[in-house]
Amino acid sequence: MNFYIMTLFPDMVMNGLGTSITGRAMEKGAIRVEAVNIRDYAINKHGQVDDAPYGGGAGQVMQPAPICDCYEALCERIGKRPRVLYMTPQGRVFNQAIAQELAAEENLVFLCGHYEGVDERALRLLDTENLSVGDYVLTGGELPAMVMIDCISRLVPGVLHNDASAEIESFHDNLLEYPQYTRPEDYKGLKVPEVLLTGHHKNIETWRRLQSVKRTFERRPDLLGEANLSKKEREYLAELCAEAAGGDAGPETGE
Ligand code: SAM
Repeated sequence: MNFYIMTLFPDMVMNGLGTSITGRAMEKGAIRVEAVNIRDYAINKHGQVDDAPYGGGAGQVMQPAPICDCYEALCERIGKRPRVLYMTPQGRVFNQAIAQELAAEENLVFLCGHYEGVDERALRLLDTENLSVGDYVLTGGELPAMVMIDCISRLVPGVLHNDASAEIESFHDNLLEYPQYTRPEDYKGLKVPEVLLTGHHKNIETWRRLQSVKRTFERRPDLLGEANLSKKEREYLAELCAEAAGGDAGPETGE
């Protein structure tokens, strides 16, 4: 899978994504990440890519010509016209489902704004899809692009050691992941739950699913409406709800 990042700060994204798991994925060719410098398409020899907003107001706006020229040159070079995702606080908030959908693409372009943002005509001409990392404002689109590329890359075959690990993590099935433990068995008097030491795979799986339901109920109950639960898990959830409403002892999961 090929990620192209249109940015004024290529080093920032390449240094970040070139590290750890995404860096290794790039080395072994499971993903390709290329930062394309918008400033290479500046409108003059001074490297100008932004100007004051028409109508007045604070800050600078990124001009349309360098962005459109940068995209057209990229398309000509690769012989394709990939989808352009504009990083903006005004976009749809990125989530695991959007990552799954984007992971099916062969090529994606991420457009990173800076300063006050991008001239509206560039967004229109590139027919951008607007994506946000959350309801807060950052200084540029580079961190959002890195967040999204990291998340999408984990879904690309060959990026993680064990591809199954991406399938059973938080947000899979609209549930948060169960609690995880590693050695030692007893740390400062806190013991690893007994069931995890039994080697009984079915019991472990059942315990983990119930823990996921409990954790999601406690931390992100908004997800549960869309969760795909078995009869036993629905009953357990009903017990959790009753406990929260009535304050009884609460259901047993063998924790
Ligand atoms: N004036 C813009 C507005 O109010 O919508 C915000 C501009 S912001 C200071 C500069 C750039 O940072 C944006 O063009 C966008 O690329 C990026 N950015 C800021 N917050 C973001 C967020 N929550 N998600 C994605 N990109 C964001």
